[in-house]
Amino acid sequence: MISYIGIGSNQAQPIEQAKQAMTALSNIKDTQLLMCSSLYRSAPMGPQDQPDYINAVAKLETTLSALELLDALQVIEQEQGRERKALRWGPRTLDLDILLYADQVIENERLTVPHYGMKEREFVLYPLFEIAPTLKMPNGTSLIEILKHCDKNGLTAITG
Ligand code: ATP
Ligand code: MG
Ligand code: MG
Repeated sequence: MISYIGIGSNQAQPIEQAKQAMTALSNIKDTQLLMCSSLYRSAPMGPQDQPDYINAVAKLETTLSALELLDALQVIEQEQGRERKALRWGPRTLDLDILLYADQVIENERLTVPHYGMKEREFVLYPLFEIAPTLKMPNGTSLIEILKHCDKNGLTAITG
C-alpha cells in the first residue's frame, strides 16, 4: 500500500525533529520510505501563542494495515518526546498523521482516513503536491483542484 504521512513539529528543534522522524519512518517494519517533501515553515493552527511549525509529507510503501501503521507512528511520536496534553493543537515535538492510505476510506474509533483536516491545511497540501502532483483523493477529486481553494497562509519552503 502507498500511504502519505503528515509530519509536524514546533518544539525542541523542530527541524531536527522532522528529519529524525523521516529516519524513523524509514525504519518502520515492512515499510519503505519512498519520498520526502522539503521542510516547510507554517503558522500555528489553533492557539497562536506557540512557535511556528515545521512540516513535511512523506510517502511510504507498506504492507502494514492502517492501524498497524498508526501504532508505529505513535511509537515514533512517543520516542521523540510527544506528550499528550489536554490542549487541542497545542505545541508538540512531533505529530505524525496518516493523510492517505492507498485509496481507502477508513472511519473507526482510532482512525479517519483521508485525514479529516487535510483539505483545508496548507501545510499538508503544498508539501503533498511537491511529491505527488497528480494525486487524486479516494473520491476522485484531484489534489490540484483542492489546492486552488487553499491559501498559502505564509507557508514557506525552507532549506537545510
Ligand atoms: P489533528 O488530528 O487535528 O491533526 P492532532 O494531530 O494534534 O490533531 P493527535 O493528538 O495527534 O491529534 O491525535 C489524536 C488522535 O487522532 C489519535 O489518537 C488517533 O487515534 C486519531 N486519529 C484519527 N485519524 C487519524 C489519522 N488519520 N492519523 C493519525 N491519527 C488519527
Ligand atoms: Mg495533526
Ligand atoms: Mg496527530
